[in-house]
Amino acid sequence: MRSTILLIAAFLITSFSQAQILKKPIPDKLVVLTFDDAPASQYSIVAPLLKEFGFGGTFFVCEFQPNYADSTLYMNWRQIQEIDRMGFEIANHTHTHANVSKLSQAEFNQQLGYIEQKCDSLGVPTPTNFAYPGYGLNTDALEYLEAKNYVFARAGGSRAYDPLSDHPYLIPSWATDEKNKVEIMKAFEQAKEGKIVVLTIHGVPDIEHPWVNTPPELFKEYLEYLKENGFTVISLKDLEEYIDVKEAKRLIKPDLSKKLSN
Ligand SMILES: [Zn+2]
Repeated sequence: MRSTILLIAAFLITSFSQAQILKKPIPDKLVVLTFDDAPASQYSIVAPLLKEFGFGGTFFVCEFQPNYADSTLYMNWRQIQEIDRMGFEIANHTHTHANVSKLSQAEFNQQLGYIEQKCDSLGVPTPTNFAYPGYGLNTDALEYLEAKNYVFARAGGSRAYDPLSDHPYLIPSWATDEKNKVEIMKAFEQAKEGKIVVLTIHGVPDIEHPWVNTPPELFKEYLEYLKENGFTVISLKDLEEYIDVKEAKRLIKPDLSKKLSN
C-alpha cells in the first residue's frame, strides 16, 4: 500500500515537472541541424540546400584560427549576414574557437562579446545559443553562460537530447563525417518518445578539417531522407517553442558525468 502511494506520488511529481519543462509535447521525428566553424561550403552549399528543402538550421560561427580570412576556406562576415537574412540562426562558437574550459570568466566574455558585436554591427540578431569548441566544457563555463543569459549550449555525446533530463547547457549531439552514415541513419530513428536528435555538421565539404568532412552528396542524402520520412527539421532557437528553458534550468541539475563529446 505504502509503495503504491509512493509510486503514485513519484508519477505525479514526474508529470508535474514534465508539464513545467515542456510548453508543448515534443513530436516524434524532430531533428535540429547545427553547423560549426563557418567553413565556406556552409554558404555555398548548405544554406541554399536547406532553403530548397524548407528546413531550419543553426550556424555556430567563429573566426577559425589561423586561416579564417581565407575566403576559399571560410565564410566572411557578409556571407554570415546573408545566412541570417535567409532566415537561419546565427549563434556563438567563440571568437577564436577557444577551449572555454581553460578560460577565465573575463576571457570567456571577451570571446563571446566579439561575435555578439560583429553580429550587432551587421544587423544580425545577437546570438542567444552557444556551442562548445572542441566540446571543451566544465561547470565554470556553464555559470559564465548563465551570467550572459545564453539559452541553449550544444555539446557532443552521440546520443539523443531528452529535454526532461539533459540540462539546456549540455545538449548532446552526433557529429557527421564521411564514414558514419550508418550511425547517423540509426540516430534519426531515436527522434521519438520525447527525444530530439541534434546533429553537429562541419564543412560540406570540409577542406581544412577532413576528419569532420561531410561530402555534399551524403548531406543531400540526409536531407532527402528527412524530407521523405516526414521529419521536422529546425534550428536550436526553434526549440524554445517546445521547452521552457528557465524551468528546465531550475529543475535539471547539470550532469557532467554523461558523455558530452563526439
Ligand atoms: Zn568548432
